[in-house]
Parts: sequence; C-alpha cells; structure tokens
Amino acid sequence: MEHLQPFLTSKTFFNTLTKPIGPICNIDCAYCFYLEKTKLYPQTKSFKMNEDVLEQYVCQYIAGQPADTPEITFGWQGGEPTLMGIPFFQSALKFQKKYDRLGMKIHNSIQTNGTLLNDDWGLFFHDNNFLLGISIDGPEAIHDHFRYDKKRRGTFRQVMRGLEICQKYKVEFNTLTVVQSHNGEHPVQIYDFLKEIGSTFFQFIPIVEHAYHRLMAPRLDGMIYPSKENALESNISVNERSTGPEQWGRFLNKTFDRWLKKEDIGKIFVRDFDLRLSMVMGMPSSSCVNAQTCGRESAIEHNGDLYSCDHYVHEDYLLGNIKQQSLAEMMDSEQQIKFGNDKYETLPQFCLDCDYLKYCWGACPKDRIKKTPQGESGLHYLCEGYKAFYSHTEPYFQKMAECLRMGYFAEEWKNLAALKERVPHPKPLQKTTMKVGRNDLCRCGSGKKYKKCCGHE
Ligand code: SF4
Ligand code: SF4
Repeated sequence: MEHLQPFLTSKTFFNTLTKPIGPICNIDCAYCFYLEKTKLYPQTKSFKMNEDVLEQYVCQYIAGQPADTPEITFGWQGGEPTLMGIPFFQSALKFQKKYDRLGMKIHNSIQTNGTLLNDDWGLFFHDNNFLLGISIDGPEAIHDHFRYDKKRRGTFRQVMRGLEICQKYKVEFNTLTVVQSHNGEHPVQIYDFLKEIGSTFFQFIPIVEHAYHRLMAPRLDGMIYPSKENALESNISVNERSTGPEQWGRFLNKTFDRWLKKEDIGKIFVRDFDLRLSMVMGMPSSSCVNAQTCGRESAIEHNGDLYSCDHYVHEDYLLGNIKQQSLAEMMDSEQQIKFGNDKYETLPQFCLDCDYLKYCWGACPKDRIKKTPQGESGLHYLCEGYKAFYSHTEPYFQKMAECLRMGYFAEEWKNLAALKERVPHPKPLQKTTMKVGRNDLCRCGSGKKYKKCCGHE
C-alpha cells in the first residue's frame, strides 16, 4: 500500500459519499446526473477503486472524524456500486475493522438500483448489517418511463427481484424515488405502491435538470454550478424531465394528505416529513439541503479525488486527492468552508425575508437558477413548491410537535384539544414502551431514527 496520509482529525463531523466504481452503471436512467462524469477522467479505462485507495479512504474517514464521534456511516453509491462485487465490500469491512476507533460505531449503507441483487448479495448484506437504499420510481409503467437499461428496456422487474432478495434475507431497506415530470403526477399511486412493496421509509428526490446549453457554453461535464461568482444573469430553463415547482408542491402535499388519511404517522416514514417535524421541534436539520450552511457532505471518486459535494463533482470543486492530502484537511480547507458558507451567504433577500426560511434556507444551491420577483439571482427553481408544502402542512406539524412536547405520540395530533384538557401542565417527554423499529422515527420527537437516538446501540 502507498504511504498513508497522516491521521489528521477534522474539527467538525463530516460525511463522504463513496463512488467505488465512479459513474459506471449497468443501466441507463434518462435523468441520471452522474453517468456523464466519465468525461472528467477521459484517460481512465477502469473506474474500479483499487485496494490502496480503499484502504487510505477507510483509514482517513474513520481517523478524520472529531474525537467524540459516536458513529459514522460509509455510504456507497454510484454509478452502481454492486458492480464492484462482494469481495470489494469484504475488503472495505476488513479495513473498517483494522482502523476501528474505540467507542465509534461503523455502519454501511448502499444506494443501489437493485437490479443485480442475488442470494449471495442478500446473505452478505444481511450478515454485515448493510442498510440498502433501493431506487424505484413507482409501479411498472411509471418506473420504466425513465429507468431503463442500455437497450431502453424497463428495469422494474429486475428491481422487484432485488426487493424480494431483501425480504428473503431480511435486509433492511429504504426506497428512494426520484420525482420527475412523469411520476410527479401520481403521488397517491406511488405512495400506495411503496407501501405495498413493504417499504416503510420513503425518500423523494425532485429532479431539476438544467437546460444549460441554451444559455451557456457547456462546461467539462455539461453542468453549470451557480455560485456568487457566476451568479446567473437570467432565468435558466430546465428540460422536460424535470419536475415543475407547482408539481413538486402538489406531489408533497398529496403525499402528506395520503399519509394522514391512511393514519400512517409512526408507521411510514417520509424523509421530508420527519425532517420537517424535527425542525418544527427546534432541532437542527439532519439534511444539508434544509440547513443554513452545508459543506460537510463531500464525495470521493474511485481514484481518491475528493469533491465538495456529490452534486458538485466538477473540476472547479475538486478539493484534492487523499493520496496527497488528508481527508480531514480537505474537509476543513478554506475552499470547502467557503463552499458550505456560500449556501447562506448567497441567499437572495427574497429568501431572507421568507416566512419559511428556517425550514428551507434556500434549499440546495445547485438548483438556485431562478430570479426573484425583484430580479435578484439565486432563487431555488422549486421555491414555489416548497412554499406550498410548508404552508399546507404547517398547522399539522405544529400540532404534532405540540403532542410530542407533551409526551404523546405525533399521531395523536387530532386529539390535541382533548389532550390539552387532560394534561393542563405539559409533562416532560417520556420514553415509550411501545415497540419501535430500529429504522423508525424516534418517539422522543428528536426527528432521528430510533436506532440513532433513544434506541442507540
Ligand atoms: S421557500 Fe423559497 S423564498 Fe423561502 S427560503 Fe425557500 S427558496 Fe427561499
Ligand atoms: S450543495 Fe446541495 S446537496 Fe451539496 S452539500 Fe450543499 S445543500 Fe447538500
């Protein structure tokens, strides 16, 4: 192995998404923003992370965290990370054991399209306690609309086989659904479908694909990266696959209404809702998108190149390579601190004056491609949708938060008035004796998963 970088420790906790096979994938989803990253490495024939880089990375990711870090997660992503094969992940586990830090728990999660899962993977994930994120956009006709293979054949059936493997081997999984112009019209159908296939934790990611080429010369990877320096002078259009602001708001609101109607609070966990409830409770956002600043979520490519964020894998946002510089040093560099602070520093006045600023913080800078009504650059493309969601759901989340503060479950929100009469003086939060799943939202109202809160392993 090449010389290990010194074990520098960062001042603040950070997450790094790992791209062990770079942008290489076995399928060809129409909206994937990562496939074209091969252009960053025109000379590269194999995008497989080698053992040297893997060992450096595992060592530095563990050693680089602040002293009191209780747990970290290795997040494996792609491209399609299962293309690396099981032996690669066995090596990763071996190195995690080798560089283990006393008192620190190490978790592994993997985001996969699910199409390559078989019995061997099922057994491996189960035995090693991996949390899977399965990408699925809805029932067959909806899923196959944009998620197809290189011959344009839908991938739904393969994904369902992957899900069966998860169920057979009792592998913990979440679902990740990309919300785009097509499935954005079917929130209720998608909600019911995800429940039907046994998912209890839903994540929805809105897709905004910039139609950059009409207004700007394409950059190396064809993307634009809004920042204070290159603040866009005009509104930029998006392509036809992107979800629209109004559609995104409607999607979230209809999903929320379905969640209430089906009385799924405490049974089905929707990331946007968990996050919102925890923020209404006064907790800091656990998602960079809704935090005041960001910059603690980097991405590492197959060769050890570290970038500011998964959405900014671009030469301008390259922080360095772990073979030359330590991960912690790069995460604490001026360049990265500035990147994170810019999320707040570049907010237009329209956002600073917004009633929902404390929940939104202008959302992800990647999609701040609109002008405000006053003509200022830097407004998030989906602003209108976010506002619709915040205003529609605010009264409900306030009631849920009040229940939690009084020591009741959020699902009691409907009975709030009666509860208030019964308990004239709010009592302190109590731990529940009800059975709560490891992956469920903690009943104490922290907004964290049970396993990462009161059920801390
Ligand atoms: S809802 Fe819109 S105006 Fe308000 S902070 Fe978010 S992006 Fe800015
Ligand atoms: S740029 Fe967006 S995705 Fe990246 S760290 Fe910031 S908020 Fe998160």
